[in-house]
Formats: sequence, C-alpha cells, structure tokens
Amino acid sequence: MGAQLIDGKLISTQIKDELKEKTDKLVAEGKRVPTLAVILVGADPASQVYVRNKKKACEYIGYKSLSYELDEHITQDELLELIDKLNKDEEVDGILVQMPVPKHIDDKAVIEAIDPGKDVDGFHPMNVGALCTGEKGFVSCTPAGIIQLLKRSNVDISGKECVIVGRSNIVGKPMMMLMLRENATVTVTHSRTKDIAEVCKRADILIVAIGKARFVTKDFVKEGAVVIDVGINRNAETGKLCGDVAFDEVSEIASMITPVPGGVGPMTIAMLMNNCFEAYEMHEANR
Ligand code: NAP
Repeated sequence: MGAQLIDGKLISTQIKDELKEKTDKLVAEGKRVPTLAVILVGADPASQVYVRNKKKACEYIGYKSLSYELDEHITQDELLELIDKLNKDEEVDGILVQMPVPKHIDDKAVIEAIDPGKDVDGFHPMNVGALCTGEKGFVSCTPAGIIQLLKRSNVDISGKECVIVGRSNIVGKPMMMLMLRENATVTVTHSRTKDIAEVCKRADILIVAIGKARFVTKDFVKEGAVVIDVGINRNAETGKLCGDVAFDEVSEIASMITPVPGGVGPMTIAMLMNNCFEAYEMHEANR
C-alpha cells in the first residue's frame, strides 16, 4: 500500500478530547454543561446502534444526554409536540431526531419543526441556507467531519480540483458548499454523470458518497490523489463493512486515503458533539 492512511478514529478522539477538556472546565467552574436530546422513533436496529453511540459520546465528553425512545406508531403530531417542548426548554442545547422516521411521519416536517438554533444535525433549511450564503449556522456533521479530516492531515484544499461523487442533502451537497468555502474548484457527479471515471480522474481530492461497494476503482483515481470514502456497505460475501472505494487497489495509487471502517464514520459523531458545544455557547451568550 502506497497511500498514507487518514485515521478517523484517532482524529475523532482528538476532537472529543478537546471538547471533554472544555466541558471539564465548565464543571470545575460550576457551570451548566451542554445538553443533547436524542429522539428515536421505532426500533430499527441500525438506528438503535447510532443512538447508543451518540449517547456514549455524550457520556465520554461529559454532556448531559436526554433520551426519548418512542413507539413506532406515535403520531406525527405527538412527535412535533415533543420537539416543541424541547425547543422551549432552556436546558436543552441540541435536538436530534434519528433518521429515518417511520413512513407515516413526514421527515421534512420533523426537520423544520426543530429550532434552527438547536438543529445540531444541520438539516434545517435555515442552516442549509446559511451554509450556502456563508453565514454562521450548523453544518451537516459528515461533511464537516471530512473538512476536519483533511485539515488535520495537513491537506491543502485551496485551489485544488475536488470531485464529489453523490449529491445527497446530507453529504454531497453540503460537501460541495464546504469545499467551495475552502476555495477548492468543485465538481459534483451523480448517477447521470457521463464518463464518471474520467471526471473523477481530474480530482486532487476525491470524495465518494454513494453507497455502492467498490464502485470507485483505480481507473477513477489520479496518481497521488487524496481519496475520502464516505460509503458504508456490507460486503455480500464476507459480511464485513466496506466503503464505496476499492481500497486495496486505490490505496496503491492515492497519496492519502480513509479506511472503512475507521475513516469518515467516527468523525460524524465527533462533529455532532462539536455542534452541541457551539449550540451551548450560543445559548449561554444569549441568556
Ligand atoms: P443517498 O442519499 O442514497 O445518495 C446517493 C447518491 O449517490 C445520489 O446522489 C446518487 O445519484 C448517487 N449515486 C448512486 N449510484 C450512483 C452511480 N452509480 N454513479 C454515480 N452516482 C451514484 O446516499 P447518502 O445518504 O449520501 O450516503 C451515501 C453513502 O454514505 C452510504 O453508503 C451511506 O451509508 C454513507 N454515509 C456514511 C456516513 C458516515 O458517517 N460515514 C454518513 C452518511 C452517509 P442521484 O442523485 O443521481 O440518484
């Protein structure tokens, strides 16, 4: 393997430790600590794991976490009522509704019900708009985590060709805005892109988020490129987790690469925790 590994586990631990230090200081000063409310509707096993990991991260850093595990048949109105109650609760800094919600609930209505100042997932249209216009707001955690991975690995972004594969609202699109903000020249590709391998081959920084195992082979990658693999897939044969990038062959020609697992994944929670601290500081400043 020629490429240097970008260790998301290590970098996410650094971020969580920095937040822990700041939180310990609050405790030592007798101050209130950041509080995250996590809502889970139904019993989807993957969502349960995500929620558990978010609660564990809160515990590690020293935040207070409030947990609401709701029956999958709860009505949309009941869920919106809970969100309204948490919006008004001055002790709550961040509100997170684990997606996906059951089909009878409109996820857009849920996202829009959360106070944008408590929307630590960065999904509310006001925060998405703020990202587009360059104003302050919460940024979707996975793309924000990728910026941290690049910066803390000393990857120079300014002036570089960045190609993003995938245009979802939670990864591809906010990633595009963040890379623009960092002065990269950005191309976003998707399922209708012609000659996608050729387009990807232009990239100094290639970010892949589509959810298709081993989609990006070495034919997509320029020698020396930095490759960020967001995908989380299960290998049909081995049952192991794998990314969207054929790691074995791409790591031969890339200069840096993220593994799956242990790359982008852990950064998402670290950035959620970071957003919670920012929300806390904002609420304290406005008291
Ligand atoms: P998504 O909402 O399903 O969007 C997938 C995107 O990939 C779409 O824009 C789609 O294009 C594009 N795409 C699909 N097939 C393609 C192809 N053959 N060629 C080019 N583009 C193609 O996915 P997502 O939520 O962004 O997630 C993507 C992957 O990242 C998943 O594996 C997910 O599990 C993972 N993920 C990981 C984290 C983490 O914390 N590490 C966080 C979020 C997501 P169209 O728009 O044209 O349909």
